[in-house]
Amino acid sequence: MPTTVNAYIAPAADRPLEPTTIERRDLGPNDVSIDIAFAGICHSDIHTARDEWGGTRFPVVPGHEIAGTVAAVGDAVTRYAVGDRVGVGCFVDSCRECEPCRLGEEQYCERGNVGTYNAVGRDGTPTHGGYSTSIVVDENYVLRIPDGIALDEAAPLLCAGITLYSPLRHWGAGPGKKVAIVGLGGLGHVGVKIAHALGAEVTVLSQSLKKMEDGLRLGADHYHATGDPQTFRELRNTFDLILNTVSANLPIGRYLGMLALDGTLVELGLPEHPIDVPAGALIGKRRSFAGSMIGGIAQTQEMLDFCAEHGIGAEIEVISADRINEAYDRVVASDVRYRFVIDTSTL
Ligand code: NAP
Ligand code: ZN
Repeated sequence: MPTTVNAYIAPAADRPLEPTTIERRDLGPNDVSIDIAFAGICHSDIHTARDEWGGTRFPVVPGHEIAGTVAAVGDAVTRYAVGDRVGVGCFVDSCRECEPCRLGEEQYCERGNVGTYNAVGRDGTPTHGGYSTSIVVDENYVLRIPDGIALDEAAPLLCAGITLYSPLRHWGAGPGKKVAIVGLGGLGHVGVKIAHALGAEVTVLSQSLKKMEDGLRLGADHYHATGDPQTFRELRNTFDLILNTVSANLPIGRYLGMLALDGTLVELGLPEHPIDVPAGALIGKRRSFAGSMIGGIAQTQEMLDFCAEHGIGAEIEVISADRINEAYDRVVASDVRYRFVIDTSTL
């Protein structure tokens, strides 16, 4: 018998989220049943709930920054036991056979990874995410949360953390590298912490200087306002790597101009509209414009272990479920320091 659990659901693009109940599947031999303690609110949840990318399968329970404890395990589970502290990120399955899956880059599965929500699971039923009290996930897609990180501060690492850690590692952020993070929101603030811990020289590019004190405390060496045109002149040809976490469309040519020779700007934000890239901004300095999506399971575990070792968790504001809609509006208004996390015991 499937289990009925409490959840918060988005019924339609133009309606607020509301309390409901959903069913979780029976525990299969390889499944782990997780009592969810906390779920982060990622801007992707909002894009999906408001159908800003198109194709949302309503009704949907968002949430792909999940932290909790194992409540039960299937007969064949070997890696987890009841009571373990665990997390679930943006996907809960993949084909396990294609080249990316075999390389541990399951997020790029050629048959499409199975999203934690807004997807269809192997059993043919819609997937529902972390704004709920419990979830059942194949053990191969479950992460271990090290003891050093509190569950509420760990939850946002499952998406925001890996989304920044993966490109920082892929493009070699470390000592001697100048890295800029555009947007000091949920993704950006974790990126500052991780880039600093990797030894890079870190600059925050935020719309204003309002959050400068926080940015420097989180580990940034420099902080500039993109609302000031002087910033783009002063920082011309400066960075080896720019990670753009902004959820809205930016004049990307001006940001490319801040890359040094052979520098790369990595697009992490997923704005609603296509991006205009002026070719001149690329060819003048052999610059690259790239993208990156979350990270694989093995690298997500590596990231969690790295964060525990370096004392990194997200800066959070824990909210009760009845404040989810208000939190959405505040995220859209860039009024978040720096991640809302739902206490799922209030669902
Ligand atoms: P967030 O908390 O809202 O942060 C985005 C930040 O962008 C804001 O805090 C703000 O920073 C800046 N910003 C917002 N609107 C802006 C505008 N109109 N002009 C300039 N800057 C603006 O969102 P998030 O959860 O970090 O997610 C950011 C984006 O990444 C979303 O589009 C999300 O869907 C996407 N995402 C992608 C991946 C991936 O795998 N690539 C994973 C997760 C999320 P300042 O106030 O500092 O300017
Ligand atoms: Zn996310």
